[in-house]
Amino acid sequence: IKYDSAEFLTSAQKYSQCPSDTGAEVAFAGRSNAGKSSSMNTLTRNSKLARTSKTPGRTQLLNFFSLSGGDYRLVDLPGYGFAKVNRTMKEDWEENIGEYLAERVSLRGVVLVMDIRHPMTEFDQRMVEWAVQTEMPMRILLTKSDKLKKGPAKNTYLKINNELRSRAPWLSAQLYSSLKREGVNELSEWLNGQLTE
Ligand code: GDP
Repeated sequence: IKYDSAEFLTSAQKYSQCPSDTGAEVAFAGRSNAGKSSSMNTLTRNSKLARTSKTPGRTQLLNFFSLSGGDYRLVDLPGYGFAKVNRTMKEDWEENIGEYLAERVSLRGVVLVMDIRHPMTEFDQRMVEWAVQTEMPMRILLTKSDKLKKGPAKNTYLKINNELRSRAPWLSAQLYSSLKREGVNELSEWLNGQLTE
């Protein structure tokens, strides 16, 4: 699959607006500011694909991107956890994303993006727990790995990957850096596996 073929397909404000549930897709999730947009942009070699550093509190949307070579899609889920997000917006997020995650038949995997300096926040842990319960393949991207020295980055990866593997074999982690374009091929290979299996 050529990830640089990604093209914007449509946005959905609620579950009923999602494109038809055929083929296969992988969704990207993560705390706001974790580096999710940047990771999607480097993967697709399109600096404008997912908008980076979005305004807190703006309308939350699921964004769908189509890939060539088959009925494949990438999905950008709204970032989670801005301090400014009020309770109602938080509930909206949980309702819409919860429904998407629960109902979507074509969803074959989730990439959960974490800032390597702040991994496994409360929200992250809930997403991991959900993947364990639903047997959803999940790849944790420890991004901004360029912010740590090689040794500490490797240690964080080993610790988190071991924790995940002991929870369920369909969970795994990897290092990633959008700045240095590191981990892009490894991510592509994981995505290929989920989308085409
Ligand atoms: P999102 O809210 O999760 O989509 O996060 P963004 O992709 O907008 O990134 C948040 C901030 O982190 C931006 O200032 C990015 O430039 C920065 N950033 C993202 N990825 C990396 C990375 O791999 N390395 C470094 N050094 N900075 C990054």
